[in-house]
Amino acid sequence: MFHNVAPYGFKLTNQQLVHVPQEVVVVQEAFSLFLIHRRKGIVARLLNQKGFRTRKGAPFSDMQIDRILRSSSAIGLCHKHRSSQAYQSIVAEEIFERVATILEEQTKLKPAKKPSHIFAGLLKCFCGGKMYVYTRSPNYTCIKCKNKISANTLEEIFVASIPETLANTLCQTIKQTIKLALPENSSFRTYWSYLNAEAKQRAASLICAEIIIPNTSPEDSIKILFVTPLW
Ligand SMILES: [Zn+2]
Repeated sequence: MFHNVAPYGFKLTNQQLVHVPQEVVVVQEAFSLFLIHRRKGIVARLLNQKGFRTRKGAPFSDMQIDRILRSSSAIGLCHKHRSSQAYQSIVAEEIFERVATILEEQTKLKPAKKPSHIFAGLLKCFCGGKMYVYTRSPNYTCIKCKNKISANTLEEIFVASIPETLANTLCQTIKQTIKLALPENSSFRTYWSYLNAEAKQRAASLICAEIIIPNTSPEDSIKILFVTPLW
């Protein structure tokens, strides 16, 4: 029933999963290290430093730690069959749950990937044309005069120019919007980095009315017009 490969920490003996002591130690270490450091990469590194190795004798990677931490075999459950079968657990259920909660949070909080189109509706070229991101381009480009600005540069400038007076309220709004435990007292930049492109777009259009892109070196002369604060 286990397709001849027992979960890490176990071996199959007479159709029963039984502990493999040297693997059990690794699983327990992985769980307690993760609760301390909250990073799979650090757990892998520390286990490797202690001389632990995978079944194949290789160093542990983030992905293998991820598999160990998510496998319900650690609490003695196997779902490979329709009816889950209980056997000897390796870590307490409470520890398994705490780790699962952290992993879940981290998956949701993955910083958004490459931004695009965040400011599309707000951008205006100095010539009066609208600016868009064309497919696979890292730039916003004016439809009339082909003036360009890098999407990443613009986002940097935008984040840096949020007035102090808006930043705090904005952080609270973001916190409520994404309904997740974000680090307390972080900068606007930190909160922003947790938003996906869609949420960034919503936030940007909430607080600014128009962004005017000049013809020359953009860094010093981009004009961001903020709307009258609603808060
Ligand atoms: Zn233009």
